[in-house]
Amino acid sequence: MTEKIFDVVVIGSGVIGHSIAFRLKRSRPEWSISVLGDAMNSLTASRAAAGMLAPFGESEEDNRFFRFCRESLEKYPQFVEELVEISGVPVFLSHSGSIMPDAAFEGRWEERLEFFREHDIAHEIWEGKRLREKVPHISPECKRVVWVRGGQVNNRQLHDSLQVASMKLGVETIPHNALGFQRDGSAIGSASTDSGEVAGRKFILASGSWSAQLAAVLDVNLPVKPIKGQMCRLKVADDVLDYTVHGFLTYIAPWRGGQGFVVGSTMEDRGFDPAIEDEVIRGLIERAAEILPCLKDAPLIESWTGLRPAARDRMPVMGKSARYKNLYYSTGHFRNGILQTPNQADYIAGLVLETANDVIAEFDPKRYDL
Ligand SMILES: Cc1cc2nc3c(=O)[nH]c(=O)nc-3n(C[C@H](O)[C@H](O)[C@H](O)COP(=O)(O)OP(=O)(O)OC[C@H]3O[C@@H](n4cnc5c(N)ncnc54)[C@H](O)[C@@H]3O)c2cc1C
Repeated sequence: MTEKIFDVVVIGSGVIGHSIAFRLKRSRPEWSISVLGDAMNSLTASRAAAGMLAPFGESEEDNRFFRFCRESLEKYPQFVEELVEISGVPVFLSHSGSIMPDAAFEGRWEERLEFFREHDIAHEIWEGKRLREKVPHISPECKRVVWVRGGQVNNRQLHDSLQVASMKLGVETIPHNALGFQRDGSAIGSASTDSGEVAGRKFILASGSWSAQLAAVLDVNLPVKPIKGQMCRLKVADDVLDYTVHGFLTYIAPWRGGQGFVVGSTMEDRGFDPAIEDEVIRGLIERAAEILPCLKDAPLIESWTGLRPAARDRMPVMGKSARYKNLYYSTGHFRNGILQTPNQADYIAGLVLETANDVIAEFDPKRYDL
């Protein structure tokens, strides 16, 4: 019996891995593609995120990363439409934008407004009566906010939808982790799992915070580590808020459809620590309630911990390996991986299919000699 050899093996079953498989399969329906890994690992970032699509709240300079995120935001409506048409699994997507209270700017209000103006980013300043009309539940202490263009997606629905769409397109999901690789010089032949070898022509390493562990098996030092985020979801009526709220480490994302509001998040450099700490969650709620007081006594639906994959320079690691001729990376998406999903899928698919026009040097794995 001849062993099956996949055209592409994607290692990692979060939104990054699944969206690459989805995009490749859409472009090359005749290719055989598999996705390896435990999609429901409880620390998976893709299911832990708030789903904020906020390039304008997160970036402070006009660099390649900012432009990449902005392009991704523009791609979202079409991407979700295409996905839902194939999967049949609905994905909530909003473009109502974010509000940022002036206290979140830590004295840099004018500087940020100048950035929005300079880069033609739609925004409005709301204060006084207008602020109370737009956000009736906002704290009386909050005197001024800037509304800025942006979006929000229910990332769990996105992940579900991607998995179902990939399956319907014929992507083979193998719910086992890669434990090692069979190699022949600079070529990878197969990924080893506890259910056998998965052979492939091309491999894509997209295992989020676990990417460095797998790279180490390939004798590669990939400087990506987990940055822990604790979050919670509160029962709040849909009509309390139309926008996401973006502070520095406080954000509030209404999930709609009676699913309450997500409140986040911490940024903790504590390895693979899965703990959820009551006092930390209480602190998040208290900080968020300074902006939206009704959150203070809202019933808690759930709390969780997730791990953001962070590269040393906090840029994504995307592109072709310099060390292995059939290996690609897409990892290190850190705080904005949900936002980057559509654009990184196009970018990686372009590299794998050799249709990409340019290599983005800032993201290139070569910067770490990978
Ligand atoms: C608390 C929190 C809030 C966030 N909020 C936002 C937000 O509002 N907006 C935004 O844009 N981004 C946000 N992010 C960031 C975003 O979630 C991540 O950047 C993105 O989900 C990374 O996706 P991924 O697929 O690379 O990683 P993951 O989702 O972590 O997926 C990696 C997958 O690889 C699998 N895996 C692990 N080891 C192996 C192995 N050996 N073999 C095969 N598979 C393996 C894991 O089981 C997992 O399923 C947030 C993240 C966190 C933690």
